[in-house]
Amino acid sequence: GVVVVGSINADLVVTLERHPQPGETVLGRSMTVLPGGKGANQAVAAARLGAPVTLIGAVGRDAYADAALAGLRSAGVRLALRHADAGTGVALVQVSVSGENSIVVIPGANAEVIREVVESQASLISEASVLVLQGEIPAESIAEAVRHAQGRVMINLAPVIDIDRSALLAADPLVVNEHEGILVLEQLGVRDLPTAADHRRIIEALSAAGFASVVLTLGAEGAMVASNGTVEHFPAPKVSAVDTTGAGDAFVGALAARLAAGDSLVSGVGFAVRVGAYAVRSEGAQPSYPALGDELPGDGV
Ligand code: ADP
Repeated sequence: GVVVVGSINADLVVTLERHPQPGETVLGRSMTVLPGGKGANQAVAAARLGAPVTLIGAVGRDAYADAALAGLRSAGVRLALRHADAGTGVALVQVSVSGENSIVVIPGANAEVIREVVESQASLISEASVLVLQGEIPAESIAEAVRHAQGRVMINLAPVIDIDRSALLAADPLVVNEHEGILVLEQLGVRDLPTAADHRRIIEALSAAGFASVVLTLGAEGAMVASNGTVEHFPAPKVSAVDTTGAGDAFVGALAARLAAGDSLVSGVGFAVRVGAYAVRSEGAQPSYPALGDELPGDGV
């Protein structure tokens, strides 16, 4: 099955007419508390698509923990949780009517997913057919998880943090968007960095840097996958985008589910692109994810 080691947040989403300037007070329209965090989102996405999923992470002993875990519980994700002294991770999301977001993330308990916590789950991690990691927990914890992996390791390095080079290069695939891809190249000491628009050069440079496989997500343009010396592009089906929050996580979770089910990387990416497109058609991250059997955009094309 899939094991995710990652972040768990409560997203406090406020909608407002316009963003306040420093020192200013504005009235908001509404506030909703939604489950979020990249680790949790990816675990939910994979579980809703039928994969057996375990999430290793941490929450606080506060009221936000229940809100943060609600989606994981209803999707049937098995939880290996540390109950931390820090508060549950929170993202304060302000969305203006014009659709612009400003976000403050307080890692809280996610910063307590320390190396020892990961080490204590070594046997769970070693049993995973697919291990999924992101950049929202401490860097040394990511390296520790990689050390115990015996199956496939997917690293979605979002945000791009400085992790141990050999742990990073264990990613098969590395999953990044074009901006993250350039930062990873920079981190690996690659010179002559490609521009963000030059997708093919980004993915080729990442392959050349030593990744066995790379997936580059490209928003409305879909995704590219590089493996075994070839690069393929899967355009996203055309949809009317309502809210792209968590689309990248839907993509990663869907890909993990398919890899765990035995699909090839290339066919998994073809599927994940359609799951990502499904997730932008409605509000929120986890609430916008498809379940097994839901019709995906691009089905039957
Ligand atoms: P991130 O938010 O991590 O940068 P992307 O924006 O690349 O991730 O989105 C991930 C996936 O979601 C894309 O590969 C695509 O499948 C889907 N997606 C995102 N935005 C759109 C869109 N506007 N139309 C269709 N699909 C989209």
